[in-house]
Amino acid sequence: MAATAKFGKPFVAPMSTDHDGFWKVDDTGAYQMVPANGTRECALAMSGGKVRLSSAHPNVVVLADAVTGQPAANNLMTFDSQPFTAFAFKLQAKSVGRTMILAEDARGRHLARLIVSVKAEQTKTYNPLILQDIRRRSKRKFEDITRIMREVEKLYLNQANVRLKTKRLPNVIFLKQDIGDPIDFTKKAVHDDINKALDEIKANSLDFNVVSSWNLVDGHQDVVGIDPAFGKTCFAEDYPDGTPLLNEVDTFAHELGHAFGCVHDGRPSNVLMSGDGSDGLQMTKDDIDMINKTGLTMP
Ligand SMILES: [Zn+2]
Repeated sequence: MAATAKFGKPFVAPMSTDHDGFWKVDDTGAYQMVPANGTRECALAMSGGKVRLSSAHPNVVVLADAVTGQPAANNLMTFDSQPFTAFAFKLQAKSVGRTMILAEDARGRHLARLIVSVKAEQTKTYNPLILQDIRRRSKRKFEDITRIMREVEKLYLNQANVRLKTKRLPNVIFLKQDIGDPIDFTKKAVHDDINKALDEIKANSLDFNVVSSWNLVDGHQDVVGIDPAFGKTCFAEDYPDGTPLLNEVDTFAHELGHAFGCVHDGRPSNVLMSGDGSDGLQMTKDDIDMINKTGLTMP
């Protein structure tokens, strides 16, 4: 019986905030983001005999024992199992960069690979904002947005090693007019005014702005995009009362993903950037590499 191996992870539900930068690429390929100076735990599911694991660049990441954290001697871990077993191991970052963990059988035949991206921590500043005009104001309170963004911050740090930080700036954009539907991006004059208001509170000096706005047109289906003219300001419409926190988190994190340059194209369902109305908080490999552009090249 020939040995088989694949890299995996215990199941994490799509709407959990516990995703840690792992992505299954295909049957024998997977991806794991590892924060610089940090670790991530992975598993190898295997059967049919001896399987050897090694890091293609031990100066980027080393294999370590899942329990003791002790690095593997000679950059080699050997697992032996019959019939089917899963073994846990740890990835320990050594330097920022990209490499692979290779799984081979006793004769050196390639069985599976785990792409590893060791990413430097990136800090991005943002301001949580509430939109108000002379007729309307977003129903969300500042505490609501703070609670949502605390979870969004966790998603970005755990999956992409991006730390989102707020600055002490005013949190209300007030427009002395009736702007109607704020999500109508064809109204250039309105968005020029929003931009001017952002300038006045110095919010444009930040990397991103996250704006809570009202929901005037049902056709939006509660999902809004980023104003292409702003590039870094995203809008999340009010949701009906009683919407679960994680659904709000999904929307805010998704719109922020666009601000980082992520797109919908070719996404599976139930991931953060699906854009097909499905729920999910997991970033794909491509999203993670778009959101944090460190750790993309082999040494
Ligand atoms: Zn979208």
